[in-house]
Amino acid sequence: MTATPSGDALVGAVEAGGTKFRCALVRGEGDVLAECLIPTTAPGETLARVVEFFVEAQQRFGAARAFGIGTFGPVDLDPQSPGFGRLLMTPKPGWVGTDIRRALIERFERPVAIDTDVNVAALAEAERGAGRGLRSLAYVTVGTGIGGGVIFDGRLRYGAMHPEMGHIVVRRDPRDREFAGVCPFHGDCLEGLASGPAIQARWGGPLAALDDHGEALDIIAGYLAQLIVSIALLTACERIVIGGGVMTDGALLPRIRAAASRVINGYLPVARRDATLEGYLVPPALGERSGIMGAALLARRMG
Ligand code: ZN
Repeated sequence: MTATPSGDALVGAVEAGGTKFRCALVRGEGDVLAECLIPTTAPGETLARVVEFFVEAQQRFGAARAFGIGTFGPVDLDPQSPGFGRLLMTPKPGWVGTDIRRALIERFERPVAIDTDVNVAALAEAERGAGRGLRSLAYVTVGTGIGGGVIFDGRLRYGAMHPEMGHIVVRRDPRDREFAGVCPFHGDCLEGLASGPAIQARWGGPLAALDDHGEALDIIAGYLAQLIVSIALLTACERIVIGGGVMTDGALLPRIRAAASRVINGYLPVARRDATLEGYLVPPALGERSGIMGAALLARRMG
């Protein structure tokens, strides 16, 4: 069992992204004492700069009791595995096999917790954001990739590894038959059809920049709605949070809700109580802070 550190304890939080690393030294319930952004370059260089930030921040504010990392993936999260904490088949050049925890462990000799960026964001939203007061929550992000995490009773759920729900098979929109999809593993899985790179490859720019905005929005909303319906049917979670770069187009969320509601067709109680799904499918309450706040919560659980 892990103990929760006393209220004012310091923890280190790292949100490890494919384009940048966000690091923060956090006190208590989320008081950020120092924070920085580091571009994601080669693993050795990037992780050295992460360590450098924490050396300086701890000199100013005091030592962190533990560290939490929310990383891009996929990543080995099995504590029994010899590869625990190492990145798996990430398309990010040079990062496959990188042990994301090791530099912090070797330098500071404190516990270092790790999970995916999506899972830590789910944790933060469950405890501090859109999931407060609920027993269950799913979090979906739609950006460079598509990922999702599910929390029940404060615990992230996974088996041999974290879920990879962005790669589910989806039914093709009849207006979108020509596009092969961009997933290097599956072609036209959900991520291959509806991620930021898929939108870019198909239409040459983000949704908001397109002339034929309406149809493209409907096509993407229809695909993302299939993930939302699948999560609702598979997990019966009480609410789903959806965020990420693609979702910053505000026109998308209402269309996903409408498409999901049409597919559910009144079958689930949640859709009968809330036909527009406005209370069921929501944006992140913590906005862009959910990742770094979740990494801090993960660290606090280490004691
Ligand atoms: Zn795929």
